[in-house]
Amino acid sequence: MSQNSQNTMPILRSEEDLARLPVSERIRYRLVGADCRYHANDNISAFIQEGEIDELKAEVEARMKGVLESLVIDTDSDHNTNDTARRVAKMFIDEVFRGRYQPRPRLTEFPNVERLNELMIVGPVKVRSACSHHLCPILGRVWIGVMPNEHSNLIGLSKYARITDWIMSRPQIQEEAVTMLANELQELVKPDGLAIVMEADHFCMHWRGVKDDESMMTNSVMRGAFLKDASLRREFLSLLSKKD
Ligand SMILES: [Zn+2]
Repeated sequence: MSQNSQNTMPILRSEEDLARLPVSERIRYRLVGADCRYHANDNISAFIQEGEIDELKAEVEARMKGVLESLVIDTDSDHNTNDTARRVAKMFIDEVFRGRYQPRPRLTEFPNVERLNELMIVGPVKVRSACSHHLCPILGRVWIGVMPNEHSNLIGLSKYARITDWIMSRPQIQEEAVTMLANELQELVKPDGLAIVMEADHFCMHWRGVKDDESMMTNSVMRGAFLKDASLRREFLSLLSKKD
């Protein structure tokens, strides 16, 4: 691309122009154009086109190779780190951060024809996440309490685990993660009350910093009936402690 054509690049690039950019810049361009936030714990799948996930992996691999070079690791002759950049790129995009790049799992919602209005508890759901500060693992458990009403949509029990996994497999901050999960479930299920408790072990506390073994953190979100009704809240919390 000549210097001149760069200077005259219109602000609104066509997809043809965008195709010449590195894939992350292309995706970022669409996000900024749509005024859409793209923090570490945001899902950006709506802005990723077919084939671009593979391109993203290739770009992350190249940059990760640069990080290893900057760490002065001889990835050419060290057979252990030979393929590390590719492995890490794949792990980030396809596994541990896939909740950013993949759309929400498809769910079937059922109208509450039986008019169930009993407290329902799902959990413990295993949580695997990573902290946004250090990209260190966060491993924990989540319990979800739902108080449905006749207008609620019921989703299958396994679907709570899939939604939780989708929200958690992003770089996260535990307080924000539980709020995000609550917002998603509130919108999907539309219950009278929603309660979420998350208990997790933050590996950045073991591996680095204070090397504190007291690294368990517990967070909760209570909404609707769980906020107003202390006995419902007590019932939920007492059922949790029995499940331990
Ligand atoms: Zn951390």
